[in-house]
Amino acid sequence: MSESLLVCELFRSIQGESTYAGTVCSFVRLAGCNLECHYCDTSYARSGGILMTIASIVEKICGFGTGLIEITGGEPLLQQGTSALIRDFLERKKTVLMETNGSLDIGVVPNGCIRIVDVKCPSSGMQHSFLERNIAELKRDDEVKFVIGSREDFDFSLAFIGKHSLEKRAILLMSPVTGMLPSSDLAQWILDSNVPVRLQLQLHKILWGDRRGV
Ligand code: SF4
Repeated sequence: MSESLLVCELFRSIQGESTYAGTVCSFVRLAGCNLECHYCDTSYARSGGILMTIASIVEKICGFGTGLIEITGGEPLLQQGTSALIRDFLERKKTVLMETNGSLDIGVVPNGCIRIVDVKCPSSGMQHSFLERNIAELKRDDEVKFVIGSREDFDFSLAFIGKHSLEKRAILLMSPVTGMLPSSDLAQWILDSNVPVRLQLQLHKILWGDRRGV
């Protein structure tokens, strides 16, 4: 059924991550995930959800009146209807971001959508989940995100970036795992290594802690 999607929550907030951090954004959080990251902060989205038609999702989200929309999860690419939803928003001239855990084919995402692609590091427990052929699919305005919980994660990320010359393919982001790694440690490692990444802090958590729907 490509006309309906399992939805965890729809809300309007301040974008907390990516190069769009700080801007007003509407979020479609889809339900279901194929990974089990140790530090998952949206475990409530890993199962369950309410079945909604694409038309009703679009109506609710467009009612929020933002130019920026993010499709997130869970893992959005698990559901066949995600591409149709993105296409609908793009046809309405919205700026669309889609965040994915990197384990599924990003090539199915319609052109014009900015993909924010995670590369899972060792502390997630999911470090072998990345689908290597996604590297060739990356476009310059896509963003690749490393969530860093330890020095091992940082070194893993440096090696991954170097192996794929990733800085030539996409915008690179690094963020610390909240409660696991002090932001200042990650900042210092980035300074020491000169790696061409953008340090990002989860703005929504600084503002509102672990609250849902923000
Ligand atoms: S991919 Fe995201 S939603 Fe899925 S388990 Fe990992 S952190 Fe949680």
